[in-house]
Amino acid sequence: MLAARPQTPAVTLTPEVVEAGSPELIRVNAPETTTLEGQWLGQKLAFFWSHDRKAWYALAGVDVEGAVGASSLRIMETLNGASGGTIDLSRSIEIHEAHYPTGTLTVAPKFVAPNPKELARIKKEMALKEKVFAHSAPQPLWSGDFRAPVHAEPTDSFGTRRTFNGQLASVHKGMDFRAPPGTLVRAGNSGMVVLARRLYYEGNCVVIDHGSGLFTLSMHLSRIGVHEGQRVRVGQRIGLSGATGRVTGPHLHWAVRWQNAYLDPAKLLQMDLSAVR
Ligand SMILES: [Zn+2]
Repeated sequence: MLAARPQTPAVTLTPEVVEAGSPELIRVNAPETTTLEGQWLGQKLAFFWSHDRKAWYALAGVDVEGAVGASSLRIMETLNGASGGTIDLSRSIEIHEAHYPTGTLTVAPKFVAPNPKELARIKKEMALKEKVFAHSAPQPLWSGDFRAPVHAEPTDSFGTRRTFNGQLASVHKGMDFRAPPGTLVRAGNSGMVVLARRLYYEGNCVVIDHGSGLFTLSMHLSRIGVHEGQRVRVGQRIGLSGATGRVTGPHLHWAVRWQNAYLDPAKLLQMDLSAVR
């Protein structure tokens, strides 16, 4: 006998209002025996069967500088077994403008106008980061809720359009925690350390791959406590906060990246993922 399909909508997004910079949990109401393929914002979606055995999920998001307006969320459900066939669950998703503040900062001149030697280093490190972000575990390595990396006051600095020393303008793509130097920094969720070294702008930096294109980045550390290739569990110590790299003072910069998109860490921390994975 075929089970009746639940009456709930086939596809739901959380948060419901999709904004630039927002992580999105995509839920598809389909049986476990189905095969799902999806694509959004030019990226493949990696669906996984939920922990509570009720639905399929994919974690995705819109870049902080992503285009606002209509976007096409493509999802194809292929039914296995005798029934066969495919169901097109695609829909249009409206991306709304997020209203982030603006600010001005003053840093050491070498971070605004690097010399040729520093520029060469920056270029080399850009290539390295590109290589690191090009590979992610095919399945999610995280489980349960993401946790704040430090016990320190967070700021709402994500998405701020900043001017450095009155000239260089850039968007702040992470969350700053007011962590005194030497504060323990922990893994926001389980994963694999894919970068653990000192970089020009980031200072001592640890990047954790949480699988399916999702990464968290911890920057400006005074000390790195993990090595590249190391598996870490949620809450595991990965280093100590500091003031290395391009900073105005000691703090932890924590960033969340999905594929090429930088997402609001505060929104990821608010997500209830306990039933999901
Ligand atoms: Zn920052």
